Amino acid sequence: LLKGTGVSPGIIIGKAFLFVPDAIETPVISLAGKPEINGEIERFKQALARSRESLRTVKKEVERKKQKEARYIIDAQLLILEDKLLVDNIIKTIREKKIDAASAVKETVRNLSRGFDDVSDEYLKERKTDLDYIGERIVRNILGTKRQELSAIHEPSIIVAHDLSPADTANLDTSVVIGFVTNTGGKTSHTAIMARALEIPSVVGLEKVTKEVKNGDVIIVDGTIGVVIIRPTAETLRSYSEKKQMYEQLKQELFQYKDLPAETPDGYHIRLLANVELVEEVASILEHGAEGIGLYRTEFLYLNRKELPSEEEQFGIYKKVIKTIAPHPVTIRTLDLGGDKFLSHLDLVEEMNPVLGLRAIRLCLKEVNIFKTQLRALLRASAFGELKILFPMISGMQEIYQIKEILNDLKHDLKSAGIPFNPRVQIGIMIEIPSAATIADLLAREVDFFSIGTNDLIQYTLAIDRVNEHVSYLYNPLHPSVIRLIKNVIESAHSNGIEVVMCGEMAGEPLYLPILLGMGIDELSMNPLCILKIKKVMRSISYRESRDFVKTVDCLKTAEEIEAFMKLEMKKRFPATFEVNG
Ligand code: PEP
Ligand code: MG
Repeated sequence: LLKGTGVSPGIIIGKAFLFVPDAIETPVISLAGKPEINGEIERFKQALARSRESLRTVKKEVERKKQKEARYIIDAQLLILEDKLLVDNIIKTIREKKIDAASAVKETVRNLSRGFDDVSDEYLKERKTDLDYIGERIVRNILGTKRQELSAIHEPSIIVAHDLSPADTANLDTSVVIGFVTNTGGKTSHTAIMARALEIPSVVGLEKVTKEVKNGDVIIVDGTIGVVIIRPTAETLRSYSEKKQMYEQLKQELFQYKDLPAETPDGYHIRLLANVELVEEVASILEHGAEGIGLYRTEFLYLNRKELPSEEEQFGIYKKVIKTIAPHPVTIRTLDLGGDKFLSHLDLVEEMNPVLGLRAIRLCLKEVNIFKTQLRALLRASAFGELKILFPMISGMQEIYQIKEILNDLKHDLKSAGIPFNPRVQIGIMIEIPSAATIADLLAREVDFFSIGTNDLIQYTLAIDRVNEHVSYLYNPLHPSVIRLIKNVIESAHSNGIEVVMCGEMAGEPLYLPILLGMGIDELSMNPLCILKIKKVMRSISYRESRDFVKTVDCLKTAEEIEAFMKLEMKKRFPATFEVNG
């Protein structure tokens, strides 16, 4: 059993197709004299030209298939291929070390690659993979050998690879691929994006899965919890087949709720919305029963690329999202970088405590041009549907005053230029810092809505790093302090006549739903895959009953007591659901 990061949910059992383009073993050949050296330099140059040409062909293919993310990666790879430092270094190595072109490419790439070993920046890490990939492509072109191709797959297979590049997946027959598992990668790597787009289970970051799996092995991929089981015993296979069946059954059963209203039996309605990170995900959210987008995280527009996205590019994307979802509303959050999401091209200083540092709105108010570009794009897009603009990491009033001033200036400019926008576009703030939750009554007078970000609110309230596994046992949404803060936020909002949405992970967990319902939350925004599950629970718990739950919860002193109480109550009502999903 190997554990990695589940990046596309679901369970699949199938045959592994081991995709390990052979390492190219070539002896180092010493060159005798100048004519041989010049010959090798020429060979290298020709291989370089061939590599460029073939990569451009791949680029055309992904453009034809509208795989935008893939195109960005190929653009980055083309830049590496044309990089003077790389090319000059290879020629220098051939000349000075008097070795053959293939060996010189390998040595140069190895040396340059070493520079990436200690970087933690996700963007740069991905570039190391690109550099290795480019090195391999040039060597193959020097030697005239071909890379193994995925287009050779003709029967249903789970692809097991070190990593999948856009060039690898460009010619893939997607009808026969049932899962992806890789050694490297994270949530935003190309493999993960492809898997989600194809809706096939995928686990990445498994480190050595290509060493453990043999071609044709039966493997189980659980993309929901990030586990891969290789050559399972008959017993495991049986139990996973059951689990898979149950998962599919549940999915089928939940599907019946798609068009039913999200309301309690006593008629209390809460709007259920989707959290979205990539423009590719937008079209499918209505299929999952969402009534709009409650949180569009724009960070991903800025990651994995070299230049910042222009106003025009952003405008195009926001407009497309709004038009796709219309007449439903779309909440787009301004750039929330920092903490666990970073950007390499901003050249930010390294911070001791990045989570408490210059992130999100703080960064935007400092790098105000980046902020203005995004806001102008958002304002322009507001003319095309129901857009709400959401600001992350607000800690107090001052930030809202600053934001409003900037917004007013931009509105003024747009108006003078005769560019259409919605002058009454709603603005909201994330309540995810305890200081904001505490002064919610003051903040509520300044904005049109609140969005509670429990992922950060819990982190800051309980002083627990949300990505540190050593303290994760303390990360509990049911801690009475968190419950009290949420209650204060909702009450302050309502007494000032504004609505509250919750968009942290807590919103998608059925166990917490009755408490949120009872406290009077207006909307819940979550991973689209959680929506139908939440709707099902909502349709069988009355609002009145939920209010009683909250009264009991208010009297309990620890997260454990609250959790035990809620589990007991929920198990009485949904024995099957709460067994399967915990
Ligand atoms: C949150 O903090 O709860 C939230 C929704 O934002 P993010 O997870 O992007 O920080
Ligand atoms: Mg947050």
